[in-house]
Amino acid sequence: MSAFSDALAARIAATGPMRLDRWMEACVAAYYARADTLGRDFTTAPEVSQVFGELIGLWAADLWQRAGARSPVILAELGPGRGTLMADAWRATRQVPGFHTAAHVHLVETSPTLIAAQTERVPHANWHEHPDDLPPGPLLLIANEFLDALPIRQFVRAADGWRERHVGHGPRGFVPVLGDPVPEGAVPDAFADAPEGAIVEDRPAARALVAALARRIANHGGAALFIDYGHPGPGLGDTLQAVANGERVDPFATPGEADLTAHVDFAALADAASPPARVHGPMAQGEFLPRLGLEERTRALARANPAQAAALHAAAARLTAPAQMGALFQVIALTAPDWPTPAGFPA
Ligand code: SAH
Repeated sequence: MSAFSDALAARIAATGPMRLDRWMEACVAAYYARADTLGRDFTTAPEVSQVFGELIGLWAADLWQRAGARSPVILAELGPGRGTLMADAWRATRQVPGFHTAAHVHLVETSPTLIAAQTERVPHANWHEHPDDLPPGPLLLIANEFLDALPIRQFVRAADGWRERHVGHGPRGFVPVLGDPVPEGAVPDAFADAPEGAIVEDRPAARALVAALARRIANHGGAALFIDYGHPGPGLGDTLQAVANGERVDPFATPGEADLTAHVDFAALADAASPPARVHGPMAQGEFLPRLGLEERTRALARANPAQAAALHAAAARLTAPAQMGALFQVIALTAPDWPTPAGFPA
């Protein structure tokens, strides 16, 4: 056992089983603080192809131009990982008149290890621990695979009604256990008749984050783009998953040593954002990226680097093929009500 899991076990011994979201929050923070995680356990879209970050940078700059090219503007990213997306976005927007003068890059990151990696790729950025700390003013915000790491609560249908999932610790290590009955209203009415054993998930931290961003964007102008894997509407089922060294592992077995995520409920995000923001999507990544010019940009890069052509086309296919990242990953955007419709979304 690691020092981190010893501390969790001691905490549970002292105060009882932990609510799943508190457990997940602690595990995710411990995981990303490790030196060796990103890239070892999973690969994200900006690491698959440079075109991903380039297209998103141009998406933001195009919207900024059409909204009146206000200066200054905050160009922010939540959970930037190694900083690859922002580095590609910044390089791709060099030619957009006035954009680099107007845009100030702000990154929200809690892992000291990843801040160090981001500093190498985006040396001109400013760092913050929480999205609330971003400076005021018009905002262009990007978040890829950020929300899936935010903590979830799970409600389990037991014989006597809905109960909240907690994490206990015993001779077999950490295990999920049933906690207190949940108060009326915590589980949407649509699931009132769910069978025993059914699980409903909720992500209050993501709803609060999106609601706060929507208020800010509506007041100060701006847009936010969230890309993550999940489902377009609410559903039943346990989507908590852990990955270590590319393999699915028991989410409770090795706290802080596996990447712990759960599907994002895009309908819940849309509800949290609108009103006051305008919501665009969700749309499958496999539809969104081609609408931004994935094929054209990939072909241009391939012509300039013939030795890389096959790899570039394979990477683009990986981002869009329904059996790979094209269908499971969804894209949703929020804009101020008086901002234009962003590229990629139907007007
Ligand atoms: N966006 C990157 C990395 C995704 S991994 C990419 O696409 O490659 C998730 C990122 O979110 C990591 O950088 C992690 O350290 C960060 N993160 C996770 N939870 C966070 C939190 N509560 N606050 C700030 N950053 C967080």
